[in-house]
Amino acid sequence: MQSFPNDAICPRQEIASLPVYNAGISAVAARRVSGLQDIAALASNENPYGSSPAVSAALASLVPSRYSDPASAALRHVLSEKLGTSSDQIVCGNGSEELIAALCRAYLQKGDSVLTVSPCFGLHEIEPMAAGAQVLKVPMTPALDYDVDGLADELTRRPKIVFVSSPSNPVGRALSRRALDRLLDAVHPTTLFVLDEAYFEMIDSSYPDGLQVLGGRSDLSWVVLRTFSKAYGLAGLRAGYGIASDERIARAMRSCMTPFNVNAAAQAAAIAALRDEAWMLQTTAKIRHDRNILADRLAGLGVRVVPSQTNFLFLDLATQAAPVASALIKKGIVVKPWMEAGYRHFLRVSIGTTGDNERFATEVGHILGLA
Ligand code: PMP
Repeated sequence: MQSFPNDAICPRQEIASLPVYNAGISAVAARRVSGLQDIAALASNENPYGSSPAVSAALASLVPSRYSDPASAALRHVLSEKLGTSSDQIVCGNGSEELIAALCRAYLQKGDSVLTVSPCFGLHEIEPMAAGAQVLKVPMTPALDYDVDGLADELTRRPKIVFVSSPSNPVGRALSRRALDRLLDAVHPTTLFVLDEAYFEMIDSSYPDGLQVLGGRSDLSWVVLRTFSKAYGLAGLRAGYGIASDERIARAMRSCMTPFNVNAAAQAAAIAALRDEAWMLQTTAKIRHDRNILADRLAGLGVRVVPSQTNFLFLDLATQAAPVASALIKKGIVVKPWMEAGYRHFLRVSIGTTGDNERFATEVGHILGLA
């Protein structure tokens, strides 16, 4: 057996103690465990209807032997026209998760403080910690809504960065205009406000467009993050983007990513997806409709369902969620038991096809002894 030279090569202290991102189990693993071919993949908030047919057409004409455009210029141009911002304010990433990492790499150093909420999207905690920052998490209220006053209080301590997802992953709530304004009023100009809108396309029209609201705040430094992984159905290709208040922020983020970070397939697919907004609007409308049906069905069984503005539901099972998730895998259903301290009795389930949603409701009802 090969021997290793003991402790001579160690990762940085921050890395050694880092929590591992809970990516869940793959459909391949679920097939092995369940012995079933037909897996209901309800753990990663993907679009169950795939992506626009225009994406397949764009991918068919790719030239794989050529490097991708390191600037993602064509994609940034299409985005800038759609969003009404300068393309210099836009930065594209290998998924929006790369942009979270780039922000931390660009702006944080050991000892800095970062503010976020709890429960939170794992990388809003892991990436700041990897950069050596201390992460303070303000818990959601007992009703599972943003504790806007609590966050506003903590903002007076001027953290270097604040990460807030709206709609929230995993809770599903979105910030109202009033709540967002209240938070922004509490942000000091030395704090970078990062609004992660990975699920922006899912929200009802009564909720604000964060980019529009932030666009009116020239007094603050901010970044809005969005992705092609969810509503546009391109999770496997990896494309996300950020819009920064100032092109210098976009440039700093760009400096912290590899040169060809967004591959050619992802760039071409994202452009094609943006040109077929009708497909995205149609599938997100269907997903929202089915989400409400599933929420009612689960509430009817007696499960506490947090109101959702996204393509997933956060369920209070009133019992440890991990064993329930394991029992569901045996039935070919993959969901995400929440592993964050204080929230281990919650399960996050993505909205799938109508059939998969019903399959989930039936099986979880049986497992919990409710049906
Ligand atoms: N932010 C939030 C809130 C998310 O839920 C996710 C994906 N689960 C991401 C960012 C990252 O998405 P991607 O890297 O696929 O764009």
